[in-house]
Amino acid sequence: MIAQLTLPLEKAKHQFKTRRTSLMAIFLFLILHWYLSLFGQTFFLHRYSAHKMFTMNPFWERFFYIFAWVTQGSSYLNARAYAILHRMHHAYSDTEKDPHTPHFFKDAYHMMLHTRQIYNDVLNKRVVVEEKFDRNFPVYPVIDKIADSWYTRLAFAALYIAFYVIFATHWWMFLFLPIHFFIGPIQGAIVNWAGHKYGYRNFDCPDKSKNTLFIDFLLLGELFQNNHHQAGSKVNFAAKWWEIDPAYPIIFLLDKIRVIKLVR
Ligand SMILES: [Zn+2]
Ligand SMILES: [Zn+2]
Repeated sequence: MIAQLTLPLEKAKHQFKTRRTSLMAIFLFLILHWYLSLFGQTFFLHRYSAHKMFTMNPFWERFFYIFAWVTQGSSYLNARAYAILHRMHHAYSDTEKDPHTPHFFKDAYHMMLHTRQIYNDVLNKRVVVEEKFDRNFPVYPVIDKIADSWYTRLAFAALYIAFYVIFATHWWMFLFLPIHFFIGPIQGAIVNWAGHKYGYRNFDCPDKSKNTLFIDFLLLGELFQNNHHQAGSKVNFAAKWWEIDPAYPIIFLLDKIRVIKLVR
């Protein structure tokens, strides 16, 4: 009788343990993917490609080019197009010429559709870009060609699905998959929408930029839009002593170990 009772109990315990482990694996993958792709975006695309806040030698430039690609995977963004759109965003912030201001759209989705259109036009050279925006960014044509192909994007999507097929133990876990597929646009939508709409202002700059959080643990400093628009070349996006830009200590360290050289 006791043996009969112990068996289902052991089975339940085992099931609980397996489910907990798989949940941890899924969350760990999601968190790692979120922060690594975000770092590729804020460190390489934003602070390096668009703003040239630091320099690095050709080896590290290629290394981080590939890093940004692999971590963004299915939602890879081209460095030239990113840099051009972002420079336009600073020059024409919150006006009609801004590629992503929340002030002309009813929601973040429609704003991002508009941004995607401009991005594709710039990427495929269908529009004339002002010369001052169209220079001084990293180029790696072989990687662009591979990364931008639909085969590659779908291969990354297949890898995310494979991870979930192996580790997910319940159907609802698969609901996280779209975050992996569209990780870049999701992060971009949050930053571009919230960062120019919600929060407080330290500086009275001419645009509508805001600082959304005191400690920007979610978007690695990208939500300090008001501080960043006030001082576009300052590598630390925090301005007050009580603000924390989590990407800055990493960039500071990379400078100390001479992977990059901060422009001072
Ligand atoms: Zn902005
Ligand atoms: Zn910027």
